Amino acid sequence: MASSSAVTTAAPEIRIDQLTGLRTILAPGRAARPDNFQIKRSEPKGAADCPFCEGHEDRTPPEVYALRPGGGDTDAGGWRTRVVPNLYPALADGASAEAGGAGGPAPAAGSPGAEAGAFASSGDPLLASRRAGEPDLFSARPAHGAHEVVIHSPRHVTAMAALDEGEFDAAVATWRERMRAHPDASYRQLIVNEGGGAGASLEHSHAQLYALPFVPAAVARERERAGAYAERTAGSGLLSDVLVEEVRRGERLVAIDDEAALICPWASRSPFELRVLPRRQTASFEDDTVGAAMIRTAMRVLAARFDGPPELNLWVRTAPRGADQFHWHVDIAPRLTIKAGFELSTGIDINIYPPERAAADLRESLPD
Ligand SMILES: [Zn+2]
Repeated sequence: MASSSAVTTAAPEIRIDQLTGLRTILAPGRAARPDNFQIKRSEPKGAADCPFCEGHEDRTPPEVYALRPGGGDTDAGGWRTRVVPNLYPALADGASAEAGGAGGPAPAAGSPGAEAGAFASSGDPLLASRRAGEPDLFSARPAHGAHEVVIHSPRHVTAMAALDEGEFDAAVATWRERMRAHPDASYRQLIVNEGGGAGASLEHSHAQLYALPFVPAAVARERERAGAYAERTAGSGLLSDVLVEEVRRGERLVAIDDEAALICPWASRSPFELRVLPRRQTASFEDDTVGAAMIRTAMRVLAARFDGPPELNLWVRTAPRGADQFHWHVDIAPRLTIKAGFELSTGIDINIYPPERAAADLRESLPD
């Protein structure tokens, strides 16, 4: 295995992610100094027209859940966290998906585009190969599921780093509550987008939960590798073993507490990528209780390092339904660089800032 000290020079290095088996190219450029990252921040829009602020409950679809320690009416004020269906859902419940007639993209019979002048002659092989029924070629099915928004606070906070400890705990507890509320989903994907460049359309801090009718390939891959590792090592946990070694080596470890650790992953795909993982292996994030404090530390250390919260994406990786050989983790990726042709064409990222350097920077920026 290549020594990580190789990254102190500018020699590029290929690293393989332990969990996914996917490669990253670390190519630290001489220009890759921390001050060279252009931090993009959206101009704040303010609370006046914000549908997620307390008092504006009538501007969202009716809530499906709210944390109201003092009681109170549905869709009224007095909540700590509030969950509503996404106004523009990527997935629809069974009833509305059927009503929408999502029966597949089959074109109308005799659609003119295929007939009029598109083929040079009747002997064209494209015409000869036109057959009536090849359902596998154009596979489609209704996107059944749920797509919810978890509003993190009644006040207009635009980054999780600005939530206080109690607010942060309530937000993460609500993530778990809603993930557990969809037991039939094959996979429950929870994400946070912060900043317009990271995909957030509303600046008021919130998460989104997708209850999916299938297991995404990236997750299935991680599950398979965790299972294979356990089989090969008579029951060891893949990420547990990674954690032991990260603590021993220390160079990518940013912080650790009684519950969880914060590391810059070995094969980080982008600069300052962070991973929160519980010290004790638990398959499902939603069935665990630990980690909120370390997720908060991660968000705050990034805000401290970049003199304000950078645009970022956060995602929870939890066990697919029925998988027990898994170790949840939460990944955070600041949007400091953009994916270009190589990344899109190969699925392989080129990271110009090695995780060892990122971890060293972040250790210096740790909040008290
Ligand atoms: Zn707001």
